Amino acid sequence: MPTRRSFLSLGAMTAAGIVTVPDATSAQAIDALKQMKPPAKPVIVTRVTGDNTIQDAYKMLLDGADTLSAAHHVCLGRENDPTDHSVGIGGLPNEEGVVELDSCCMHGPTRSAGSVGGVQNIKNVCLVARKVFEHTSHVMLVGKGAERFAVDLGFPSENLLTEDARKVWMLWKEGNSQMDWWGPGITGPQWKDPYGDRPAPKPTMDLHGPTSQLRPGTIPRHPTPDWAEFIRARALTLARMADDLDIPAANRQFAVEQILWPSTGTIHVSAINPKGEISGATTTSGLAWKIPGRLGDSPVIGAGCYTDQDIGSAGATGSGEENIKVAGAHTIVELMRQGLTPHDAGMETLRRIVRNHNGDMTRIRLLDMEYYILRKDGAYAGCSLWSTSPTGKPRAFAVHDGTYRVEKCAYLFEGSSIAWPPF
Ligand code: ASP
Repeated sequence: MPTRRSFLSLGAMTAAGIVTVPDATSAQAIDALKQMKPPAKPVIVTRVTGDNTIQDAYKMLLDGADTLSAAHHVCLGRENDPTDHSVGIGGLPNEEGVVELDSCCMHGPTRSAGSVGGVQNIKNVCLVARKVFEHTSHVMLVGKGAERFAVDLGFPSENLLTEDARKVWMLWKEGNSQMDWWGPGITGPQWKDPYGDRPAPKPTMDLHGPTSQLRPGTIPRHPTPDWAEFIRARALTLARMADDLDIPAANRQFAVEQILWPSTGTIHVSAINPKGEISGATTTSGLAWKIPGRLGDSPVIGAGCYTDQDIGSAGATGSGEENIKVAGAHTIVELMRQGLTPHDAGMETLRRIVRNHNGDMTRIRLLDMEYYILRKDGAYAGCSLWSTSPTGKPRAFAVHDGTYRVEKCAYLFEGSSIAWPPF
């Protein structure tokens, strides 16, 4: 395995003095990968689920279960839980109040991939994605076709919009309806900073430098105190409206948060066993209040999930559009192929997102991105654009390698994103 120093010496220094990662896989990196042994025990890396499915999936792996089946066991826990509003039944709907689910997976041992997008009425889309490669010669099915395929294979058809989710959607419609996903795109020339009165911090890091140049203290801080005041006032208004809509007191805080910070949830799971068989799966209800038919990164092989049996696996949660533009999961796996550690591969991919906006923090502060990364030797990382969620919780991920634990993500910027779309 090349050291960071030797990796940097591989970087091509262009005439403009910009350091880039090498274009071709270096002989050193290939050798290092060949010598890497699978972990002695299984390893699972995933979003924190708050249930026992990670522990159960780990037992499945110890008993010799297929790595994709174990990953899907964790996904199913979330898809079947009506109180998880980012995945499966209970997921927050699109702008018309219809739940549309996306999922994809890759099975390392057979080098297979399957994906479904924009699926209505079927809650276990992670399993439908697997059925795509098990029962067809296709990789991706969307919309009505994917739904019919699932029904044909015996998946039950049911209403995925729970009462709780419907009420949160009503709160969004009534409290926020003129502030939606319509309008000039974030990269369009007509785009205007919706928070123009709240100056964004300037990035002070070298966007094109090597990953090792990222140092604490060179990153902007957010949010500002007047921002916190603004949020508080808005939250109080929404809480009163939630009361009028009969949203029970216990659910009110969640409902208000969903309007202030539309849900980014999703679940990605990567799993490897001691035979070196590795798989990855991602499932989501996508962005809350999205335009009907919108697909994010979660059903896109190479963006929401990518697994290469020879290298490792990665997956994503967060701003899907940004992740598609950097082919995030695939980029991470390719960077690991070139010799970067899981941590450095994740951080470099996050910086590509920042570079896509030329470091413009008025845009970047509207985005979120978290990566879950597992290399074929069991090395892993969780990397996030921001250090905390908008509600102030540290960005974290779950890992089980014989011991279950929650670890904080490495991050690019201190603080959190702010609401997008604006309100
Ligand atoms: N990445 C998902 C999407 O864009 C959303 C999320 O992770 O919250 O659909």
